[in-house]
Amino acid sequence: MSNLTKLKSDNAEDAQLWQMRVDLAAAFRLAAAMNWHESVGNHFSLAVSPDGKKFLMNPRWKHFSLIKASDLLFLDSDNSETMKRPNAPDPSAWCIHGRIHANVAHARCLLHLHPPYATALAALADPDLKPVDQNTARFYNRIAVDLGFDGIADDRAEGDRLARVLGNKSRMMMGNHGILVAGATVAEPAPRWPRPSRISISWSAPARPWCWPIPRGRS
Ligand SMILES: [Zn+2]
Repeated sequence: MSNLTKLKSDNAEDAQLWQMRVDLAAAFRLAAAMNWHESVGNHFSLAVSPDGKKFLMNPRWKHFSLIKASDLLFLDSDNSETMKRPNAPDPSAWCIHGRIHANVAHARCLLHLHPPYATALAALADPDLKPVDQNTARFYNRIAVDLGFDGIADDRAEGDRLARVLGNKSRMMMGNHGILVAGATVAEPAPRWPRPSRISISWSAPARPWCWPIPRGRS
């Protein structure tokens, strides 16, 4: 029996899980098409249990453009044997995604990337996205900013810390690292995505002096 045959089912619960796999796989393909990805280095995940402890995530060393629904790992953040299995996930992604899903109820889908312009902004002393135009203004006061990066995540405490920083926000600028967007479904984060391909020019601007817009009626 093929992997695909095993995953597809007439059972409603299995069919729902299969659709979640398909949706998440499509997000990887879209990110690759938009060139937001870092080949095999970033991670998307989707909670599939009510408590968020069971979730889907991409396997290690699989290019975004090649990921299929059946490739996605089914993980349980309570399973202490996870990192010992032959197809163990990336350890950093396991620490971050598993703990955010378990701690932040609204973060059902997590899209984490290192887009070049956003990551350049994340490396500034003040990585907050300034409201300098109508695109960036949409995100004013809506982005959690993490300034506590101290190396690649390698324990659950770092994931718990990032979960606290994200809090009730749906976007996080991860200082010296990248960005993370959370949503209720795979589709939900997309319209609220900072869309690096369009906004990245604004995001790169902090390296230069700001030209602040003057509100109407003021000189
Ligand atoms: Zn990362």
